[in-house]
Amino acid sequence: MSTAREPIGVIGTGYVGLVTAAGFAELGSHVYCVDIDAAKIERLRAGEVPIYEPGLEEMLARNAERLHFSTDIADALENARLLFVAVGTPPTYSGDADLSAVHAVVNAIPASDEHALVMKSTVPCGTGASLQRVFGEHGKDGLGYVSCPEFLKEGSAVADFMKPDRVVVGDAGGWAGDAVVELYAPLDAPLVRTDIASAEMVKLASNAFLATKISFINEIANVCEETGADVVEVARGMGLDDRIGAKFLQAGIGFGGSCFAPTETVLVRRYGRTTLMSFEQMWERVEPSSERIESDEALRAFGAGLDTEVLEPDELEVLSWVREESEPRYLPVMALTRRPYDGEIIEVRTKMGRSLRTTPDHPWVVGDGNSDASDIKLAFELTPQDWVPLAGPRPARQLLEGARYPLDSAIEAAGLSAEEVIVRPPHELVANLVARPEAERRAIFTHPRGVAARTGDVKRSGALRLDEAIRADLPWHDSSLGTAKNGAYVQGTIALDSSLWRVVGLYLAEGHTSREANGTTKICWSFHPTGEQHLVDEVVRFWALHGVRARARRAPTSYQVVVQSRLIGGFWNGVLGLGASSYHQRLPDMMWDLGDREKWALLSGLWEGDGSWSLVNGGPSAVLEWGTISDELADGVMRLLGDVGVVASHRVGRTRLSTKDTHWLRISGAKQVERAIELVPERDRSGVLTTIARQSKRIAPTGYRRFGDGPAWARISELKRERFTGHVYSLEVPYSHTVVSSGGLTTSNCFPKDVDALKQLAGNSGYHFQLLTAVIEVNDLQKRRVIGKLQKHLGALAGKRIALLGLAFKPNTDDMREASSLVLSARLNADGASVSAYDPVAEEQARRLVSGIDFAFSPLDAVKDADAVVLVTEWREFLELDFEKVASAMRGNVVIDGRNALDPAAVRAAGLIYEGIGR
Ligand code: NAD
Repeated sequence: MSTAREPIGVIGTGYVGLVTAAGFAELGSHVYCVDIDAAKIERLRAGEVPIYEPGLEEMLARNAERLHFSTDIADALENARLLFVAVGTPPTYSGDADLSAVHAVVNAIPASDEHALVMKSTVPCGTGASLQRVFGEHGKDGLGYVSCPEFLKEGSAVADFMKPDRVVVGDAGGWAGDAVVELYAPLDAPLVRTDIASAEMVKLASNAFLATKISFINEIANVCEETGADVVEVARGMGLDDRIGAKFLQAGIGFGGSCFAPTETVLVRRYGRTTLMSFEQMWERVEPSSERIESDEALRAFGAGLDTEVLEPDELEVLSWVREESEPRYLPVMALTRRPYDGEIIEVRTKMGRSLRTTPDHPWVVGDGNSDASDIKLAFELTPQDWVPLAGPRPARQLLEGARYPLDSAIEAAGLSAEEVIVRPPHELVANLVARPEAERRAIFTHPRGVAARTGDVKRSGALRLDEAIRADLPWHDSSLGTAKNGAYVQGTIALDSSLWRVVGLYLAEGHTSREANGTTKICWSFHPTGEQHLVDEVVRFWALHGVRARARRAPTSYQVVVQSRLIGGFWNGVLGLGASSYHQRLPDMMWDLGDREKWALLSGLWEGDGSWSLVNGGPSAVLEWGTISDELADGVMRLLGDVGVVASHRVGRTRLSTKDTHWLRISGAKQVERAIELVPERDRSGVLTTIARQSKRIAPTGYRRFGDGPAWARISELKRERFTGHVYSLEVPYSHTVVSSGGLTTSNCFPKDVDALKQLAGNSGYHFQLLTAVIEVNDLQKRRVIGKLQKHLGALAGKRIALLGLAFKPNTDDMREASSLVLSARLNADGASVSAYDPVAEEQARRLVSGIDFAFSPLDAVKDADAVVLVTEWREFLELDFEKVASAMRGNVVIDGRNALDPAAVRAAGLIYEGIGR
């Protein structure tokens, strides 16, 4: 870089000041930075960067020799002519900007003819003028003043400096404005060189517009909610129109900021199957069949950073909670995101021992513990005074009484072909089959032994192969099935009743599966050698009822029940998805769609195996406890208890000899224990209930509160921060904006900028669309303003003749819908004026819609004898009008340029009065 670059001073070394300093140093200037914060200056001198801004540290380091830091403004004054002011101008309580820091800087600068202030701080329009007045009053008239507003966005400030969308320089003449332009010249950005007030206004109007855009899409979001439209689709559709642009159209969306840690689990429903899975697993499973959102434009429309991957899952629902509803429900996930992360993760723990880890900017739904009113706070704002919602019971999807599950998928899961499965149909069916005509049997028994021999086999043994049964169209689901290996036979369907779920519960607590050398599967329940005879009996009886032989074997340390069958193995591990050992146990996916009765049956089996009940200090309070070493099972049981309306606490600990954490779930409080009484072995139930009934005063279980039918609220007990490097995940549920973690903790799923929108979205009904009302009102007022302008020049309009140039709502169309000429001509007629008009193409349309207009055949014909002319549509031929001719045709001399499209000088040169809109 050239060394001849102008040195500058920067007053205020915050985001704007430091980035400006680093940027100009990069371009070759020596930069003299001043701040009143001595500690900050000290750190900057030591090479530390007090703020986090990507790329800033490197840029400052690269240019260290050109950067000078001081607390004394004299250092800057001595070395530089231009003093960039970048001090804070925060809003005051009244909403005005607090300009005290700006005034402090102005006061600190002595009179000088050689210096100029370059205002980077955002100041109200008019500040430049008033500061120049202050200069005058203090004998500092020689100071130059330039308005050079800043548009950088934190997070991309360095890039924004180097590649600005535009540079705005406002001054009132003099050397300083040119010097600032010269400084920015190497960036080759579009330059808006204007007066001070306009430059100030560019910044304020830009901010207002962006705010309007956001409010606008937020209002659209509110209306979408009312109408069932999807605001993301709407915003995407809108944003792809380049007149609108995708940026700042992110209402209620914009994930990709705050995220969940990868191992957090949620309940997911896909293709009719419910599974408890981690975010990481969800990504893996959903990715292959999902649409990936690729284009930068679309990514931006989704509010995602460029390192964020976004999937649009084709079918994915998660358990979510709609505020004001008592029960959680499944809602579709619109997008799933993943991004690399290296930073702090906050683990939010509740008194009930639940926890959930999110990034610090993740929004949480919080309550105050006194009502079910909720608010939103970011994770880093949470305190142990906050309460978080725990999702309550989920309405059970009751299966039909006596529903049976066909074993087809178990056969597949066991890796068996139809030829390997042997079918034993009821006797009459076999008799019927072997008596069928030979031609028919030939098509069924394609076995190499030949049709006659095969018919004989089947008749003798009463059994055939599944492929034969299928070809014979036999109702094989009603038969017993087995395999050639000497395993057990089982019915073609299994009843999904409570007795099955009890046995599954006992298996989750006490069971394991092993694969034998001959290919069969051994499913084994190991009970206490003497104390659990009733459970041994229960399992044996269950299988016997299904026609399956289960062997009970006494071993020195246990009493085992064993079922050996490839088919049942396929059902057990493949269809139900049960684990092979205590480390890998998990709840069957099917569980999530069953009724309460089945859920309680499974839980009671689990508790009989690994749970216990006890009296607290001998009574009258009782607690129910259960432990497991499987993380996935613990998550699932926690959620399952939530489903049946029990709030358990969770503790993780490691016993002395174990290498793996044990999860302990605990149910306490009289009401809870009563509700969960099925978890107490039948023979002890009445005792426990009588003991609890003795409690004179029921003590509410500590740690959570419930208001009405709403969710339970748990108090935050601890907030742990830890460093995390890896992928973090997020998802968006459009309707509720919440997701229920498997532990029941419910958080919001949006990013922080939408917090306000979210607040609005929550619980609004009969929505009043304020912004749009205002936009329409502003638009209407704009039309009336033309009338006001005419009246200003002509007085009362009765008897006056007004010429309208153009009628269509915009040039090059004949579309008259919403055209302002309709309102205008009606108002003029109502006021007693006569209206003439000319439009090159819209006349025909206009004739249908309005009366009271004299249609002219040319512009000059229209303006003939007019007191005033109004340009309504900026057709090219109007812009090229000869205003001398217009002036001589008119009776009066007023031209209102409703589009700011005419050349004011040309109009005025013809002796006419020119009036535009807002200029
Ligand atoms: P900031 O609070 O980060 O920095 C302001 C700095 O000015 C602080 O270091 C403070 O110690 C210093 N300061 C205060 N009074 C001083 C004085 N009398 N003399 C010297 N130093 C003084 O603020 P910021 O975010 O950099 O914003 C600065 C201005 O730029 C504001 O007007 C803001 O509205 C505007 N702006 C900010 C951004 C942005 O994204 N941060 C973008 C565009 C415009």
